[in-house]
Amino acid sequence: MGATTDQVVRVRARITVSGVVQGVGFRPFVYALARELGLSGQVTNTPAGVIAEVEGSAGSVATFARRIASDAPPLAVVETVDEVRVASCGGTEFHILDSAGGAGRTLVSPDVATCNDCLAEFDDPADRRYRHPFITCTNCGPRFTIITGLPYDRPATTMAGFPLCADCAREYADPGDRRFHAQPIACPACGPRLSLTTSATDPQYGEEALAGARRLLGSGAILAVKGLGGFHLVCDATDEAAVTTLRKRKDRGDKPFAVMAADLATARRIAEIDETEAALLTGHRRPIVLLRRLSAAGVAKAVAPGNPDLGVMLPYTPLHRLLFEDASVLVMTSGNVSGEPIVSSDEEALIRLAPLADAWLGHDRPIHVPCDDSVARIVAGDELPIRRSRGYAPFPVALPSPVRAALAVGGDLKNTFCLGEGRYAWLSAHVGDMDDLATLTAFEKAERHLENLTGVGPEILVTDKHPAYRSRQWAELHADGRPVLGVQHHHAHLASVMAEHGYDGDEKVIGFAFDGTGYGDDGAVWGGEVLLADYDGFERYAHLGYVSLPGGDAGVRNPCRMALSHLTAAGLPWDPRLPAVQACSEEELALLRTQLERNLACAPTSSMGRLFDAVSSLAGVCHRAGYEAQAAIELEGLAAGHALDQPYEFTLSDPAPLLTAVVRDVLDGVDPGVVGARFHGGIVAAMVRTADLVRSRRGLTTVALSGGVFVNRLLLAASTRALSSAGFTVLRHRLVPPTDAGLALGQLAVAGRVHHGRS
Ligand code: ZN
Ligand code: ZN
Ligand code: FE
Repeated sequence: MGATTDQVVRVRARITVSGVVQGVGFRPFVYALARELGLSGQVTNTPAGVIAEVEGSAGSVATFARRIASDAPPLAVVETVDEVRVASCGGTEFHILDSAGGAGRTLVSPDVATCNDCLAEFDDPADRRYRHPFITCTNCGPRFTIITGLPYDRPATTMAGFPLCADCAREYADPGDRRFHAQPIACPACGPRLSLTTSATDPQYGEEALAGARRLLGSGAILAVKGLGGFHLVCDATDEAAVTTLRKRKDRGDKPFAVMAADLATARRIAEIDETEAALLTGHRRPIVLLRRLSAAGVAKAVAPGNPDLGVMLPYTPLHRLLFEDASVLVMTSGNVSGEPIVSSDEEALIRLAPLADAWLGHDRPIHVPCDDSVARIVAGDELPIRRSRGYAPFPVALPSPVRAALAVGGDLKNTFCLGEGRYAWLSAHVGDMDDLATLTAFEKAERHLENLTGVGPEILVTDKHPAYRSRQWAELHADGRPVLGVQHHHAHLASVMAEHGYDGDEKVIGFAFDGTGYGDDGAVWGGEVLLADYDGFERYAHLGYVSLPGGDAGVRNPCRMALSHLTAAGLPWDPRLPAVQACSEEELALLRTQLERNLACAPTSSMGRLFDAVSSLAGVCHRAGYEAQAAIELEGLAAGHALDQPYEFTLSDPAPLLTAVVRDVLDGVDPGVVGARFHGGIVAAMVRTADLVRSRRGLTTVALSGGVFVNRLLLAASTRALSSAGFTVLRHRLVPPTDAGLALGQLAVAGRVHHGRS
C-alpha cells in the first residue's frame, strides 16, 4: 500500500434507485459499474427499488451515483436516486444479492421486441441460439406477460418450469455476460419448444413444426400462432382467398385486419412511411401503426376493404422472424371470437379457435396475462395511441398531483382500468367490451395481476356515471364498503388528457370532448361537448344541438338513419335524390318517420360521432357501419386529399345551417371528398371561434382535446394547428388513447385527487 492510497478517504453510500429497474438488467449494470470504478459492496432488488451499497474513494462513489442514472440500461427508466452515507465496512468484493421479498412498488417493464444483439446471434449459424424461437436477453423479450409476482426473479415468471442448462447457467452467473441475471433466458437445450397441432397429423415439434407451419401458410391455411401476449390468427396477406376465408370465419364485416410485414423495406412497399412512423415501427414497443396505404399495396383487397389506412407492424419475437422465411406480409389479427378477449392459453386456443384456425403453432412457455397488440398512429409528428397494450403496459403515467390508492374501472367499450396511488397511474392493457362473461373474467384477472405488480390496495373505486354500465355495476358489487365515486364521461375524457400532460389544473381548460356516446348529467347521450373543466368539476359551456338518436344501437349501426334524423331536426325534406334517402327501403323510411314524429325509442343526443355518420351518409359515402366509426373513417379518407380552406358555416349549438349546406352541395353533385373536407374545416373553424369567445370572456388560454372523434387524423392535426396559431396551448393525447380506452386515467385523476392546502 502506498502513502497516497492511505490518504484517500473511503466512504460508503447506500443508493436507492426507483423506477423501472427490475427485469431490465439493472443489478448486472450496477455490478459492472461498481467493478469499473473499483468499488466494493452489494446490490439487491427490494420493494423500494434497487438498493446498491458501494464503498471506495469519495470521488468514485460520487461518479457511481451520477452514472447509475445517466448510463442505465436501455429498458430502465430511473425515476429517483436517493443517496445516504452509511458506516464503512471494508471488503474488496462486490456482490449481487438475491431479491429481498415483500410487496413491491417497483415498476415492471413492458414486453419488448427482440434486440439487435439477440438478432445477430439468431442469424449466426455458429451461435448456439441460431434460429432459437425464444432467444432473449437482459435487453429484450417478454416481461409483463410472464411475470407472476414480485420481486422479479425466474421463479416468479412462467419460465419457472425451465431449469437452466449448464451453458445458460454459466451466462446467467457471469457478470460480464449480456444474459447475466436475465430471468427469461433459455436455449435450444433447456428452453420452451415449438409445436404444431393439426387435425390431420400427429403433433410436430421444433424445426419440423416450423416447416409445417410455413407450408400451411403457403397453401392458404389459417394458423393460430402463439405470440407474446396471446394467439394471433395468421394467413398470407397477399392471398385473397385466404384473407376472405378468415374474414368470413371471424364474422368480421369490413373491419380491417392488421398485417405484419417482414421488415421495414417490405412495409414501405405497402404503405407511406415517414421518418417518425419508421421509428415507431422499428422501436422496441412495436405497435401496429396505422399508415396511409399505397394504392398498389400488393396486399389482398379483403385485408382492409374501403379503408384509406393499413395497420402495419414489424416482427417483434424471434418466432415471427422464422415465419417470414417464405412470406412477405402476413395478416395478424387477435386470436379471439369477435368481441371476446384474446386467447392466451394453449388449451383454450385449441377449443375456442377451432372454428377459426386450420392449425396451431404454439409452445410450452405459458402466458400469465394476455396482452393485445398496441395500435398507434402519428399525427403531426407526435404519437397518438389508439390501443395501449403490449410494449406499453404496465408502464405508468406520472400524475401532476398525488392521488389516493384508487381503482378506476373505465367504461364499457374498449375497457381498460387504472390503478393509482401517489403520483403513479397504472393503466391496464386493453381488456375489451364489457358485454360478456369472458371479458368480465379477463377484467378481474387483469385487475388482480396489476394490483399484485403495483402493490396498490384501492381505498376507493371510480366509475362512469352511466347507470347501466357493467363496469359500474362490477364496482358496486365489489366495493366491500369502499366508496364508489362516479365521474361524468366527458369530464373524465378531458381529465385524462390533462393528467397525461401533467397539467396542474390551476386554471380551467377549454375542453372539446367529441365522441360517439357518453352518459350526460341530464340523461341525454352527450358527445359534442365544450366543457370548461378542471379536475374538480366542469361547466357545460356549449354542446352540439340535440337531435334524436333513433333506436339506440340501431341508430349507431345505420348512419343513413342518423342522416335522416339530422335532416328532420334541421327542418329539411327527405329529398329522394339524396343518397341517404335512397339507401333506405320504403319500409325503413316509414318506420323512421313514425319513430321520429312520435319520438319512439329516441334519445336526445349531442353526439359528434353521430354527426360524422350523418354527413358521411348524406355525402353517399357510408350508410351502414360494419364496424365502429366506419362512416367517419371513410369520410376522413376521402376528405384527406382536399384542402380545408372552404369550411361550411357551422356553430356547435345549431347544426341546421351545416346540414343545409351539405344537402345543397350533394344535390349539386359536389365530390364527397370535398363535402368531407368542408365539413372537417367547418368543425375546426367552430372550435377556434368557440375557444376565442371563451378566451375573451373568461381569460382561459389552454385547450384540451379528447374523445374518440380525435382518433381522426385530419381533424386532430387541423384543429391543433389552427388553435395553436390562434395562440392557445393545446393539450392532445400522446400517452393514452383519446377513446374510452383512456377514460380510466381521467376518472382516477378526478376522483382520486388528494387536495392540498384546501379545507
Ligand atoms: Zn436481446
Ligand atoms: Zn440452456
Ligand atoms: Fe367516450
